Amino acid sequence: MRILFNKINVKRSKRALAALLCLGLISCAQGNSTPLQKACVTGSGQEALYNGHWLVHPVPLAVQTGDFSAGELNTIVASIETWNSFFAASKGFKLYLNNGADLGMMGAGGTRATSATICSQREVGPSNFTSSLMIYKNTSNWTYGSSVMGLTSTCPVSSGGTFNSFSAAVMELNYVNFYRAGTPTPDLQSIVTHELGHLLGLNHSCVGSGCSGAPADYSAAIMFPTFSIGTQKRSLNTNDEGRANCLY
Ligand SMILES: [Zn+2]
Repeated sequence: MRILFNKINVKRSKRALAALLCLGLISCAQGNSTPLQKACVTGSGQEALYNGHWLVHPVPLAVQTGDFSAGELNTIVASIETWNSFFAASKGFKLYLNNGADLGMMGAGGTRATSATICSQREVGPSNFTSSLMIYKNTSNWTYGSSVMGLTSTCPVSSGGTFNSFSAAVMELNYVNFYRAGTPTPDLQSIVTHELGHLLGLNHSCVGSGCSGAPADYSAAIMFPTFSIGTQKRSLNTNDEGRANCLY
């Protein structure tokens, strides 16, 4: 069973981009983190596969108190550290605010944005973030497709530059169809690392028919649109790195 990438464009006052990581049974090559790519490199056919970027960083991330187990929090932090280590080596800064155990906590019970509502809030000002970006478990109302393991929604605003700027974003993880009794348990670190690539502005390494016969480094990228349960894909490859360098 191969599940294709889905992308939802939500028409609201602003356009929200929702990028989904889907379940597939095709085999995914392990990402390759060497050699470090420090240049901006966009591969053939990837020119439009950027959703936007943050004009301000570091980007603060937070979960709601009590939502994730200690083990899950460690996993999320490890995914953050993958991107932070890359940006530190390539650009000399850490893109995400959070380091080590310093994942932000929000009070339990707060409003959880979805792809439909994310553009109704604004989380960044001209020089600083006014709110952390939330990562949360969706345990009861997953409307994006039962094979979709995670979904990151960003709200792009025209910035006058090469890329749109983001005004808000949210990451939802599918705990309706996964991670509960009787459901599959895909590698959470792989999924969160992929979703964090969306959160910083990358679309997939290829989309739709463009994935047929795509170069090997596109399918090896963390940003490849499908992921196989039972495998791990936790590292960035040079394609992920080259594209991320173009955004920051
Ligand atoms: Zn995705």
